[in-house]
Amino acid sequence: MRKLSRILILTMILTLVLASNAWADSGIVSGGVVNLRSGPGTQYELVGTLSKDTRVEVIQSRSGWHQVQYGDVQGWITGEYLTVTQSPKLRVTGDMVNLRSGPGTNYPQVGQAKKGEILDLVDTCDQWYQIRTAAGLQAYISANYITTVNSGTSTSPAQPAPPQPSVPALPGKTPAVFYNGQKLAFDVPPMIDNSRTMVPLRAIFEAMGATVTWNQSTQTATAEKGDTTVILPLNSTTPTINGTVTKIDVPAKLIDQRILAPLRFVGEAFGGTVGWDQASYTIDIQLKEEPTPSPQPVRTNLVVIDPGHGGTETGTIAEGVMEKDITLDIGLRVGNILRNRGIPIQLTRTEDVNVGLQERADLANELNAAIFVSIHCNSFNNVVSGTETLYYAPESNPELFAMKAERQELAQAIQDQLIASLMRKNRGAKEDNLSVLRNTRMPSALAEVMFLDNPEERALLLQDSTKQQAAEAIATGIQNFMQR
Ligand SMILES: [Zn+2]
Repeated sequence: MRKLSRILILTMILTLVLASNAWADSGIVSGGVVNLRSGPGTQYELVGTLSKDTRVEVIQSRSGWHQVQYGDVQGWITGEYLTVTQSPKLRVTGDMVNLRSGPGTNYPQVGQAKKGEILDLVDTCDQWYQIRTAAGLQAYISANYITTVNSGTSTSPAQPAPPQPSVPALPGKTPAVFYNGQKLAFDVPPMIDNSRTMVPLRAIFEAMGATVTWNQSTQTATAEKGDTTVILPLNSTTPTINGTVTKIDVPAKLIDQRILAPLRFVGEAFGGTVGWDQASYTIDIQLKEEPTPSPQPVRTNLVVIDPGHGGTETGTIAEGVMEKDITLDIGLRVGNILRNRGIPIQLTRTEDVNVGLQERADLANELNAAIFVSIHCNSFNNVVSGTETLYYAPESNPELFAMKAERQELAQAIQDQLIASLMRKNRGAKEDNLSVLRNTRMPSALAEVMFLDNPEERALLLQDSTKQQAAEAIATGIQNFMQR
């Protein structure tokens, strides 16, 4: 019986351990578009790209590189472009504290933690913390028996956080608080608590441009500004900034219906700096105002290559030859050529699969690609022949019209190279309302390499040498446009 229950507990532990790996350190991509490789070095194969601000899970770190997981994709990213956040640590303060399978005493006990034991914080859930022990057990522990040890963000290699100078206590005198040079007025003045200066949270956060809400039932203040969310429960020493626990040594408290919180926490929560001038009894909070985000996404030098059609969507079929196969062949070649020339690329498909038209444009938009080029073959009446490249920038669409010159230049640059290389009839760079051109937000073009239904051109399109020439022409056209 005893043996059986041990086995049961062990099974539960294993289930818990295997169930999730949310405890892992997380990282945020800091570069514009960063390459994901199959190993820790630039010599390894490119397996994908990640755009700025993507949150990834860090699996392991080696020689300045991190192995990360994003959705189903796994790969290595250089530490230069990844900000790693280590999971916060907790220390057990109770003597022998029960670890449970869920956030409450009604959940089964799955283990115990000794006083002084250090645990990794996985998540918080009311008065319970989801934790992971050094042995790898993931479980829940009551918040009453733990204290926060530290938390922090470090770029790799891990560096110790700089020591925080403390703002001295100010006995018997109320300091003046300046925010970006402007004196703030409070209906509840700053005060000293446990030799820490406590300041009115809402007044200061609102002066910084944050929105502050108060939840009466959970006694929690939430402040939001830009991408940053600060959550501060009353009487708690573990507020979170974007989900990361930040320890404060004096808890926030309610005085005359106003929340007072430690000055340094309030001043720095949104990335500000706190200065203290003893002579004038002045606190000076400085926060660089972020420029109004521009609607234009950050441009990168990423090129998205879009081999037309795929999967059940074959495109033109002529004498059994399918457009989707020719476009994929040429598209993969364009990708290889650009990559070998040091230009980061992303293909909308690398296999014979269906990809939606909107999905193709969305991918390029999400990656903030610099250029989008779609590859197709034309068809008409088995007689017409030649090469044309399309773009779209109508006056009726102001966003696209603003890019008219660029879009036209991109299409012309590709068309020029295709004509010079393939020497087919020049049908020109022309405007056409096509989904991928209409829905991409960067300069985009669509090359109709040749007519697949024209017997002469079909024979050419089946030759590797022609497909390579077409790919080199498209790649060079893209490069010429980038270097214009
Ligand atoms: Zn097509």
